[in-house]
Amino acid sequence: MSKRRAVLLLRERFRSSFFAHHRDRRTSIHRPRAVDSPHCSSAATYSSSRSRASPRPAMEAMTHNGLWSSGASDKNKAMVEQLQRYGVIKSTKVAEVMEAIDRGLFVPPGASPYFDSPMAIGYNATISAPHMHAACLELLEGHLQPGMRALDVGSGTGYLTACFALMVGPEGRAVGVEHIPELVASSTENIKKSAADPQLKDGSLSIHIADGREGWPELAPYDCIHVGAAAPQIPEALIEQLKPGGRMVIPVGTVFQELKVVDKKLDGTVSVRDETSVRYVPLTSKDAQLHSN
Ligand code: SAH
Repeated sequence: MSKRRAVLLLRERFRSSFFAHHRDRRTSIHRPRAVDSPHCSSAATYSSSRSRASPRPAMEAMTHNGLWSSGASDKNKAMVEQLQRYGVIKSTKVAEVMEAIDRGLFVPPGASPYFDSPMAIGYNATISAPHMHAACLELLEGHLQPGMRALDVGSGTGYLTACFALMVGPEGRAVGVEHIPELVASSTENIKKSAADPQLKDGSLSIHIADGREGWPELAPYDCIHVGAAAPQIPEALIEQLKPGGRMVIPVGTVFQELKVVDKKLDGTVSVRDETSVRYVPLTSKDAQLHSN
């Protein structure tokens, strides 16, 4: 069996078991509104299992009121454990970081933060599904060591940028670039409530309003570049800003997209391989994104 087929099967197995497990325990699953919007159904990643979910008003009320009881971190922990159980998270460090950064702080009120699905965050954007965040952290872990530099293009809610900050630590640098100013503002607020707040304060984590197709040259080169939106092709500026020995993970394509792993060797040569098929929102201009419906 090809590696890609194995990954798809594993993902399907994980998804079925994840939802079955949570349904049985009557935890916080409901069908996200994202599914109803034409944009998000096309932009949503791995949507096939969502129709099995059912509403849970108690969770809705809790998130609407912004009241985060200790139950929230228990649910975040359960989500991480489930991702470990099904082999999506293998690294202890990735698990620790995803436990420390409560996804519930980054998902808009009314959504179910621990449900394994992408969710609408406004402005025709989505927060990626937990298993996609976990998969990207796993792919990038070797390039997110303490002291390293990480660039998160299309930082959206700020969730992954916050995870990157914890991975590289205060002696490293985590940089988010997002072209919707309102998302930059809300992501900064999200991060302030999270375990990554000290790094926002000490300047080792920053989020910038910019066109991510140009990267963030001021702090280049980067050991790790993650792109959270699908580009028609790999932007040249991002390849340039990748450090020799560094790795970029980027979804590429329009209708059909592949998650590409781009490695820059120490001699500067670049290799690209396909990891898996995905569906992300496009890496595009602000105008095109806001008028895409
Ligand atoms: N990793 C983020 C993904 C958000 S969705 C998360 O999980 O929260 C992709 C994001 O890319 C959106 O927020 C969108 O506004 C942003 N985006 C799209 N094109 C962009 C561009 N050219 N420059 C910067 N950000 C862009």
